[in-house]
Amino acid sequence: RVYLDWAASSPPDPEILDLQRRVAEDMFANPSSLHTMGRKAQEALHQAREKAALSLGTTTERIYFTSGATESNNIVFTSLLLRRRDGHVVTSAIEHSSAWEPALLLKRLGYEVTSVRPRSDGILTPEDVVEAVRPDTLLVSVMLVNNETGAIQPVREIAEAVRERAGRRVHIHSDVVQAVGKIPVDLEALGVDSASVSMHKFRGPRGVGILYLARQIEVLYAGGGQEWGMRPGTENLPGIVAGSEALVRAVRRREEGAEQASRLMGRLIEGLCEMKGVQILPEERLTVPERYSPFILTVSFPPVPGEVIQRVLNDAGFAVSTGSACASHKGKGRRVLDAMGIPEEVSFSSIRISIGPDTTEDDIEEFLRYARKELPLLMKVAR
Ligand code: PLP
Repeated sequence: RVYLDWAASSPPDPEILDLQRRVAEDMFANPSSLHTMGRKAQEALHQAREKAALSLGTTTERIYFTSGATESNNIVFTSLLLRRRDGHVVTSAIEHSSAWEPALLLKRLGYEVTSVRPRSDGILTPEDVVEAVRPDTLLVSVMLVNNETGAIQPVREIAEAVRERAGRRVHIHSDVVQAVGKIPVDLEALGVDSASVSMHKFRGPRGVGILYLARQIEVLYAGGGQEWGMRPGTENLPGIVAGSEALVRAVRRREEGAEQASRLMGRLIEGLCEMKGVQILPEERLTVPERYSPFILTVSFPPVPGEVIQRVLNDAGFAVSTGSACASHKGKGRRVLDAMGIPEEVSFSSIRISIGPDTTEDDIEEFLRYARKELPLLMKVAR
């Protein structure tokens, strides 16, 4: 099988799995326990935090381990519920559902939410975001790399512009899940108040993530005070240790991996463009490829429904997805592509292809060979 769904989850690194198992066996004591075994677990937790902090360009006291990016995003959004119920939130219209749905939750509970649409290239402008900021805005959330189009958002410029307008009053959050290990991520340089990371996107374990917080916030959780109260609960030490090591490796190999991905993505796009009627989304991707992650591509085969393409490819041994894996539970259409102004008949026929450091030239050639042989007929019949 050819796995082209790395943005949904990546195959675990065998050495990372082994490390996770060893920690589970050898360091099962509770890191909060005061005996020697507990202290040893506490020390391993500290070392993992140091590794994670170093890899993300920040310091240990700003790293909080969570159960994944969904939880990290939720902690930030729901923290507003402890403040007031009449504030205002600005979010991009292209956020992953784990940041988008919490914004809708706040809306249901009395907050006003403004969602800022990207331009047709899938990228937000700092001007558009700042324009949405009001005197009662409490939170601005804009992801760094979109998980469907790969569009890189100018988060640093957005943060600067929002600060200039509103100072420290506004909390600026960024979901950097699809950026870590793929494009340079220096959290301090990004200038945000918080950020979310997920370990299973770069060959680490599932169910482990990071919430970066430049300063602590009030959270809806109450418990044993672990993670300085930001995420109480006995720490998932095997996941945290293995995930932090996966993070170190992903960041160390980033440049090499991105170069290879750019080459493969270039070839993939070139091959797809040779097929009549196929549309790369957004089309700006062809003229300014440097503004997109080379690991993610959305492509449309009108008028065949994306689900049909996905199924046909699956039967032939290729794993791709229709948009975000998380959105596939909801049957909610294509919110991200809609926000970019892509006509429904085009977005309806799209799939997402995402690659990783283990994707080979052969994988891409095999995919292109199959796509060029089988999909044009499908497109003709559907017309
Ligand atoms: N944010 C983005 C951009 C994602 O692509 C994902 C992937 O599922 C998530 C958040 C959720 O991460 P997790 O699976 O760790 O909850």
